[in-house]
Amino acid sequence: MKEIVGRFAPSPSGRMHLGNIYTALLSWLSVKSRGGKWILRIEDLDPQRSRMEYARQIEEDLHWLGLDWDEGGIDGIGEHGPYLQSMRHEFYERALRKLEETGLCYPCTCTRADILATQAPHESDGRVVYKGTCRPARLDPTKQVSPSKTPHLEGKGGFPAAATRIFVPDETISFTDRIKGVQSVNLAEHCGDFIVRRGDGAWSYQLAVVVDDALMGVTEVLRGDDLLLSAAQQIYLYRLLGYTPPEFAHVPLVCNEAGIRLSKRDKSLSMEYLRAHHTPEEILGMAARHASLTPTSAPVSLPDILDIYKAIHSNPQIQ
Ligand code: GLU
Repeated sequence: MKEIVGRFAPSPSGRMHLGNIYTALLSWLSVKSRGGKWILRIEDLDPQRSRMEYARQIEEDLHWLGLDWDEGGIDGIGEHGPYLQSMRHEFYERALRKLEETGLCYPCTCTRADILATQAPHESDGRVVYKGTCRPARLDPTKQVSPSKTPHLEGKGGFPAAATRIFVPDETISFTDRIKGVQSVNLAEHCGDFIVRRGDGAWSYQLAVVVDDALMGVTEVLRGDDLLLSAAQQIYLYRLLGYTPPEFAHVPLVCNEAGIRLSKRDKSLSMEYLRAHHTPEEILGMAARHASLTPTSAPVSLPDILDIYKAIHSNPQIQ
């Protein structure tokens, strides 16, 4: 039987909060309950927002909770390293070449989405649907000639000023999410042609996540449901690159009292605050309660949560 491989892929742009812990825990449980392997990948694509000290802190917080990984991390234990996206340039470069061979890529000198492209497009960030301004005539029968736009003169550090976009067909991509059920997304309506590489040379989240999950042999992607629709973009890239998509499982986000998803700004649920006031078992108890694994948020050890999870999942009657 194929080995189950899951991963936790945090962006080191701040201290983790209860929401990150909840996602990490569920991903860990899903994999560990079936004897699988859990990878830690650091998604430090965005040079402006990522900091090594946050990556170290993420590792330290996970260790403190007992959420240990079998492969990955900053030191890159395992055969698929490096596990820091900032060090995986050559893999993304190779994938881009492959995408370019399909004839579906084109340079784009528009700006806004460009700037957002290395970030995972959490839905509350606001979506940008690209209208095809720079799409060349060969990909767009409505255009007689390619648009003549003046490229922005932003190409610093030897990178081209233009971003690279990939054309998306007006077609619905369907997939079954383990938690959310059947999803159907029309990429042309959801996002339009999307960026695979920014004009400043930074790789887009969508490209990097697909390349990494595929090359690291990830069989299931469990993460927050604000990335549910991104799975369709990713399935499209899997298809173009000739890889098999993993199983997707998108879990509801943890929200604060105002019903807004937790962010690094919610200090009282940040690991900094939580660790100063609680034991690992107390924090795991809160996450387990949130996942409806336990009836209350009483402290619970990780081995006990694993047993509870296994019991629930081996007996669908009590799910
Ligand atoms: N790096 C993303 C984040 O921290 C997660 C991406 C993913 O799991 O696909 O939000």
